[in-house]
Amino acid sequence: MKPAPFDYYAPRDLGEALDVLAEAGEHGKVLAGGQSLIPLLNMRLAAPERLVDINRIASLEPFEVTPDGVRIGALARHSQVERSDGIAAVQPLLRQALKLVAHPVIRNRGTVVGSLVHADPAAELPAVLALLRGSVRLARAGGVRDVPAGEFFTGPLESALEPGELAVSAHFPRLPERTGSSFVEVARRHGDYALAGVAAVVTVDDDLRVSEARVVCVGVGPVPLTADVSEWCERRPASTVDWAAVARAVQDRTEPEADIHATAEYRRHLVGVLAVRALTEAARHAV
Ligand SMILES: Cc1cc2nc3c(=O)[nH]c(=O)nc-3n(C[C@H](O)[C@H](O)[C@H](O)COP(=O)(O)OP(=O)(O)OC[C@H]3O[C@@H](n4cnc5c(N)ncnc54)[C@H](O)[C@@H]3O)c2cc1C
Repeated sequence: MKPAPFDYYAPRDLGEALDVLAEAGEHGKVLAGGQSLIPLLNMRLAAPERLVDINRIASLEPFEVTPDGVRIGALARHSQVERSDGIAAVQPLLRQALKLVAHPVIRNRGTVVGSLVHADPAAELPAVLALLRGSVRLARAGGVRDVPAGEFFTGPLESALEPGELAVSAHFPRLPERTGSSFVEVARRHGDYALAGVAAVVTVDDDLRVSEARVVCVGVGPVPLTADVSEWCERRPASTVDWAAVARAVQDRTEPEADIHATAEYRRHLVGVLAVRALTEAARHAV
């Protein structure tokens, strides 16, 4: 199918883009990598009257490693972020997650910020932002606001982005000292969206006892499901924590739904298995 007709804008600066979006209101849509939006347009599941292509706005491109983390601009492609050793040094979870996103061709074009705004409940990057308690910076004509991850994802394919707004960047905080991370998932074929996935961050103290452990699950709810499981680790040495018991606590908090790809029971089972793997691996990296 072909998309419904729309007016196409390709502004060269942010101010112009924001003016067009402000005028268009709920009839406007941003085009970034197009990896999700173009299929939606072709299937007429989205039919904006004005399409604002942001690919020529140079100021949206870079990413920056700062003392407190990584700020990723709206045009940083998945592959650029995945390949950056500077980013991997302060936030290895991004590289761990991006390896699981789609295929290289899609990662060459798709953007990290676009994936966040798209807010697919099975996508890896919204889960990473939620787990790390990052934020998304939204600009509109005359103002900017930072929305914490906990408030950004509001439902399946729904975010806090309002008509007239453009997501200019996302901030992923740096991992604390002695913290390890991991992202594991099960998909029917490599590159498909996951049936279920779990990411974990584990921090140990100077005696290698677990001081903090958090997980996030994807594909088992309308938004990324985060859980702080530190108390289940009972401040034990990482090597003696009963990770299977911790994983059961995570599993108990999920209420997955069945669809054509998997039953709810199978998804819940996957969460248990994957949580053990993610937590064990994150703990190994931490020590
Ligand atoms: C075959 C296939 C497999 C895939 N598998 C996976 C997978 O396993 N995991 C995964 O996470 N993703 C997967 N994807 C999606 C891919 O990661 C997309 O790149 C990503 O979801 C959207 O990024 P984009 O830059 O292409 O956004 P676009 O497609 O351009 O836009 C997506 C949505 O976000 C909005 N948007 C984008 N950027 C902004 C912005 N800066 N401000 C405001 N609104 C904005 C658009 O208006 C649109 O609503 C897959 C895609 C394909 C085609």
